[in-house]
Amino acid sequence: MNDYHVHTYLCKHAEGQVYEYVESAIEKKVEQLGFAEHIPIPGLHDPDGRMLIDEFELYLQYIEEAKKNYKEIKILLGIEADYLPAHMSFIEDFLKRYPFDFVIGSVHFIGEWDFTNPLYQKQYEHYGVDNTFQDYYKLVREAAATGLYDIIGHLDIPKKFGHNATVDLSDEINKTLNAIKRYELVLDVNTSGLRNPAKEIHPSEEILRRAREYDIPVILGSDAHHPSDVAYAFKETMILLKKMGFNHTCVYDKRKRENIPL
Ligand SMILES: [Zn+2]
Ligand SMILES: [Zn+2]
Repeated sequence: MNDYHVHTYLCKHAEGQVYEYVESAIEKKVEQLGFAEHIPIPGLHDPDGRMLIDEFELYLQYIEEAKKNYKEIKILLGIEADYLPAHMSFIEDFLKRYPFDFVIGSVHFIGEWDFTNPLYQKQYEHYGVDNTFQDYYKLVREAAATGLYDIIGHLDIPKKFGHNATVDLSDEINKTLNAIKRYELVLDVNTSGLRNPAKEIHPSEEILRRAREYDIPVILGSDAHHPSDVAYAFKETMILLKKMGFNHTCVYDKRKRENIPL
């Protein structure tokens, strides 16, 4: 069992040190633990969303130390990099500069609105839930086409706070899965939705079923923002994936992907 999506206190809206996530993972018999801290972006106003650029060396240091101290688990250096059209040259350079094992591409923003931040939930009313979902999927397709990412993070995240689209999103979703397939990306099957008002995984079972038809690979992520959430609900999620016909998951090493049995 591998968890390829955990955060740390460094992002300012999570609790727990790197070693606490590692110890929780070891306790839960996780074999590979992928840290995917939010990428620092100078110039983006996001005070509770991510570490500062000056704190990044600390992240690298903590992970290096954990690799030395815990030989019983494989620890990976990942990053959750946003797709932010206004900041792509910075993001591209940043991703080249460090030896990441994997890069999760996530859409959290529409323009300057972080629709995943509980503080800005009110904006769904003004922007419109349908618009939010439609613009979101369009941004995911753009993200896929950049070729900068390995994994698409928590697809269908606009449902996080329990919002549902009133229009049929089948076309949007099909186009998005097409792009994910074309650019050889992997889906982050993210169990954070089970802990949020959405009360279901990202992406939904319906989207996962379609993803299976497209033969898109999957990887599990808890999106833990607390050490106790490492590998959250993984056993039942793995059973669900197998039932849907997924036989493989992926592992990464310096951005090289390998399939392993689920
Ligand atoms: Zn976060
Ligand atoms: Zn995210």
